[in-house]
Amino acid sequence: MPELPEVETVRVGLEPVLRGRRFVRVEQRRANLRFPLPERFAERLTGRRVKRLGRRAKYILLYLDRGEVLAVHLGMTGRFSVSLPRRRHSVPSPIVPEARLRHDVGEGQGGGDGRTSPLGVPPTPSPSPQGGGESRRRSWHREPPAARGYQLGQYTYEHGKNHKHDHLVFTMSGGAIVTYNDARRFGYMMLVAEKELAQNAFFEGLGAEPLGDELTPAYLAQKAVGKKVDLKALLMDQRIIAGLGNIYVCEALFRAGLDPWKPASRLATATAKPTPAAVRLVPQIKTVLADAIRAGGSTLRDYKQANGEIGSFQNEFAVYGRQGEACLKPGCRGTVRRKTQGGRSTFYCPVCQR
Ligand SMILES: [Zn+2]
Repeated sequence: MPELPEVETVRVGLEPVLRGRRFVRVEQRRANLRFPLPERFAERLTGRRVKRLGRRAKYILLYLDRGEVLAVHLGMTGRFSVSLPRRRHSVPSPIVPEARLRHDVGEGQGGGDGRTSPLGVPPTPSPSPQGGGESRRRSWHREPPAARGYQLGQYTYEHGKNHKHDHLVFTMSGGAIVTYNDARRFGYMMLVAEKELAQNAFFEGLGAEPLGDELTPAYLAQKAVGKKVDLKALLMDQRIIAGLGNIYVCEALFRAGLDPWKPASRLATATAKPTPAAVRLVPQIKTVLADAIRAGGSTLRDYKQANGEIGSFQNEFAVYGRQGEACLKPGCRGTVRRKTQGGRSTFYCPVCQR
């Protein structure tokens, strides 16, 4: 399931092909994803220009002219891929640099035709680069990471190969074709009036944006004072912090050296002031997300490496997926454990997380 950094990586990847562009053609192949698609969806989108892209929690927001916002949630398996227009020699590409990098993937492998790159997924070279007969919609896909291979900013699922799950195809001015593929259809899209966005049922209850200025030790202390719930449960509560998921909560608690099972109230004094634990935790939440986004960004940049090897990530998860392995904290001799908490796996070091 894409978490916030992956969603942000997708937003960044869509930016060059969507921003300032119009929906020239909208092909809607089914009436619903997780929920019904908006009424007259294709008609309402066609001709609209994307003023800018944003993100709130795990929603990608396309701010359209005429005051509507297209909000997209990727659910479990939703993904966008971008197919760029056929490029001819000597004709300058109309694509902005970031997108051109993706276009350049595999240059010399198949003749420079339009290509599709799944956003946020590191490319791997096609096993048969000259394997003729492949359509111009060919994608680069990476095998799902091996058991301990989870890396920050990297998707951990392999979907999107099957074009029967291409539910929406957007042709943009500028020529990019943006396809939404969603095998399990837990994703959804909404058209919301921009001024009503904050009051929309999906948005009004959302807590602080973890990378925003709202999330401070003082904010967290106010939410945590007197709370008996687990520290982890508090951090997973979307009404308190929006868009923070299991992986990054585990990682942030590890980095801050905090026991996920301790009551949340340890973040606050009796007068709702932040404790040293809160002061330690908040920057770790922000840095683990920022590190992951940076890793995702480097994935996109690495598209120009035709060998497809993305071996340069420094930021492997420290605890997530590492049960049974040695704790990575310098000087700690603990072993990472995995235990179910609130229906989800918690990965932690019982020695240095107190
Ligand atoms: Zn440890």
